[in-house]
Amino acid sequence: MLTDKEISQPVVTRFAPSPTGLLHKGHAYSALMAYNYAQKHNGTFILRIEDIDTTRCKPEFIDAIYEDLHWLGIRWQSPVRVQSDHMDDYQATLNTLQKLGIAYPCFCTRKDIQKEIENAGNAPHGPEGIIYPGICRNLSLNEQSSRIADREAHAWRLNLEKALNTINQEIHWYDELHGSQMAHPRELGDIVLSRKDTPTSYHLSVTTDDALQGITHIVRGDDLFHATHIHVVLQKLLGLHQPRYIHHPLLTDKTGKRFAKRDKAETLKSIRASGISAAQLTNEIMDQ
Ligand code: GLU
Repeated sequence: MLTDKEISQPVVTRFAPSPTGLLHKGHAYSALMAYNYAQKHNGTFILRIEDIDTTRCKPEFIDAIYEDLHWLGIRWQSPVRVQSDHMDDYQATLNTLQKLGIAYPCFCTRKDIQKEIENAGNAPHGPEGIIYPGICRNLSLNEQSSRIADREAHAWRLNLEKALNTINQEIHWYDELHGSQMAHPRELGDIVLSRKDTPTSYHLSVTTDDALQGITHIVRGDDLFHATHIHVVLQKLLGLHQPRYIHHPLLTDKTGKRFAKRDKAETLKSIRASGISAAQLTNEIMDQ
């Protein structure tokens, strides 16, 4: 654990929910972990709305996030950064990676990828599912530009091997709960930087925003531990400062099951409606 004395710069933490549903107890736990960490270190807590997924995000869930967190006693800096207002920033990050020659357009449909995997007879999987088999990785520049000129729908992917060659050194990162880590991004492969349906991706926008907002300590659940292996690669490529990480265990119910957005009964809204106070809930979840 980092002691208070070792922290030289003011602490900035964030909670970055996606407004795709109502917040549940697990979100409350994560938000309080990030908030309490900032408070303990006389730092700043930031709330960020991660709404790049235009098909699943809804404005009413943004309002519900504000209401729930306020009820919990959490206070944040305003204005709140709402990702969909900052597509230019993500485009700029993508342009930098394109200029480095480590991003390529990918025209594949899900079906193309499925077919390729069936033909190959094996489907390496990582924590985010099938690892992209590289169909579009080595298209000629001519083919890339003529298909783009023909307005063929495309994503942009990171050419991971080329990126690692560019970096040409091992990358390490530090997690205050899990200790020192060596990055092993190959389990994610050529990640999507910008999607067909939205001109960014989770990995690209989160890395951009954490840097732009000066986040010093990323407090989030263990379900995103694997993502850090690629975020630190992006940070290196982009010349960004590497934050420290605190991946906390996920809160579970009495049966050991993780809370999910589909478990309607466990939303903060329904808990509030049942008459439980924020203090009671906080005691219950922070004591687990
Ligand atoms: N928006 C992500 C989520 O709701 C969290 C992103 C992060 O903490 O890095 O799962």
